[in-house]
Amino acid sequence: CGLHWPNTLIDCLLTSSFPSLSMTLVAVKPDGVQRRLVGQIIKRFEQRGFRLVGLKMVQVSEELLDQHYVSLHKKPFYPSLLRYMTSGPVVAMVWEGHNVVKSTRMLVGDTNSAEAMPGTLRGDFSIHVSRNVVHASDSTEVAQKEISLWFQCSELIDWECCDHGNIYH
Ligand code: ADP
Repeated sequence: CGLHWPNTLIDCLLTSSFPSLSMTLVAVKPDGVQRRLVGQIIKRFEQRGFRLVGLKMVQVSEELLDQHYVSLHKKPFYPSLLRYMTSGPVVAMVWEGHNVVKSTRMLVGDTNSAEAMPGTLRGDFSIHVSRNVVHASDSTEVAQKEISLWFQCSELIDWECCDHGNIYH
């Protein structure tokens, strides 16, 4: 696989067992890692039935964050967002499944933790927008860009889920 999007991701999708299913990037932010919430967050995606196809712990660079948060550079909170996101390791994941981007955003909850519904990850585990525990891509296009920014194609594993027939018809 080359380094350039979209070829890298399309290659990955075409070689996956279920090319009709989409993928999304989820990241447990430094506060979530420090608060030992990684297991509980992964559990929510597993119990829903999504397939984990990539997982790693990373100390994120400002260069990566500048690309990841390209639309937020002019926001007044951007410098503190950079400090927050580089304050400790992040656990980055790629989840695959039917409608996974939209379902994941619903599972994660509102950006502003104060508005996030109970039962969502942010609604259950956070109080303030500046420490909202988890990131999730907000559209399929953004998910493709984010996955290829955070992961190499070789880091995504296409493995057989033995319960696939019980989750999808
Ligand atoms: P989301 O993470 O839900 O996609 P955004 O892309 O709008 O939301 O914002 C990216 C991240 O920037 C948020 O998850 C949060 O960590 C931070 N953020 C957003 N708005 C604020 C704010 N008003 N004050 C501090 N941090 C913020």
